[in-house]
Amino acid sequence: MSARPATKNRHAEYISRVENYLLWSLGIHVHYDKGEQTALYSEGHSISKDDFIVIDSGKRKEWQLYALLHEAGHAILRKNKEAHEATFPLSEHKRDTIGKRIDVLREEVMAWERAKRLSLELQIEIHTEKWNKQRTTSLMEYVRWAYDPKEYRVD
Ligand SMILES: [Zn+2]
Repeated sequence: MSARPATKNRHAEYISRVENYLLWSLGIHVHYDKGEQTALYSEGHSISKDDFIVIDSGKRKEWQLYALLHEAGHAILRKNKEAHEATFPLSEHKRDTIGKRIDVLREEVMAWERAKRLSLELQIEIHTEKWNKQRTTSLMEYVRWAYDPKEYRVD
């Protein structure tokens, strides 16, 4: 008998797996809000106990899972303040200088890569084509912003 749950339940189960990881290893809570900006809400180069992740619950479950993994990737990259500062020295700069925009873009790329590794560590199956498509859409927004921050905003 197959123990593989139905697709929808599987995504919900995977989501709670990532939530547990975030809570127990990083102390970060996840909130769901329809139409809200999906992001890791933190300040500076590190994460603290009050930081949290918001996921747009209006999107389908699989999208939410991949977005949650990506935000967890950011949290992991920010676990060690010194390491984050050394790797992305300009990412927290007040103004949108070229240096800042490129460091932000570099972190976005690396958060997706770290997220992929996390999915393997937590034994979460991902649909490669859908994952790649979501990653492309997300990174393209940052590319547009990095190219012209006055015309194209990301929050
Ligand atoms: Zn991101």
